Amino acid sequence: MVESISERITRITSNLPESVRLIAVTKQVSVDTIRTAYAAGIRDFGENRVQETEAKQAQLQDLPDITWHLIGHLQNNKVVKALKQFQWIHSVDSLKLAKRLNTLAKEFSYSPNICLQVKILPDPNKYGWGITDLISDLAELNECQNLKITGLMTIPPQGLNNLQTLSVFKKTQELAQEIRQTNFSNLKTQELSMGMSDDYNLAISAGATFVRLGRVLFGERKN
Ligand SMILES: *Cc1c(COP(=O)(O)O)cnc(C)c1O
Repeated sequence: MVESISERITRITSNLPESVRLIAVTKQVSVDTIRTAYAAGIRDFGENRVQETEAKQAQLQDLPDITWHLIGHLQNNKVVKALKQFQWIHSVDSLKLAKRLNTLAKEFSYSPNICLQVKILPDPNKYGWGITDLISDLAELNECQNLKITGLMTIPPQGLNNLQTLSVFKKTQELAQEIRQTNFSNLKTQELSMGMSDDYNLAISAGATFVRLGRVLFGERKN
């Protein structure tokens, strides 16, 4: 028998530790399916495009207790919209973007929670800071006093085996810990946004506090 989306959600959420918050990644997923997930108890939804999210939010105004998470690269011309649409931005991937968000957060007196996206291994296909680049930007990030920097986000490169993937997650956890031990009081990195459909159990074993799941909940996407 084919498992329904509600059944999948129930099975997966009941197996998650309480310390882990599930983000249902609904890029390319219809509004009807989002409603199904909502009815099954999901309140955190992740999207990677500002415009797609805007269209969905317009159709979901009757569900005010959704928390929206931006998990994709944010283009410069969409920053203002993103600030208004999302309570969390997991994909802050450059100092330039952080500074822009900081300025706008002051202007709008509103600041989403932010994760800094890191690349533990070099990966030309991904945005984000390498470890040494991030460390050298910490002082300036700490100056972004209007930002709520609350965690690190990572996506391992494609094609790693489980041990290599686990190592990426563990190093992300260590980096977060290292940042917490600095004197940069504005940098709170207690949240670890890591783990997708294929690797979330590894991420959880390395201390993930958010997992971002799409395909295991909604099936394969069409791209
Ligand atoms: C698409 C996406 C996910 C979900 O991936 P699945 O493999 O479908 O679970 C998680 N995080 C980010 C940043 C994504 O772009």
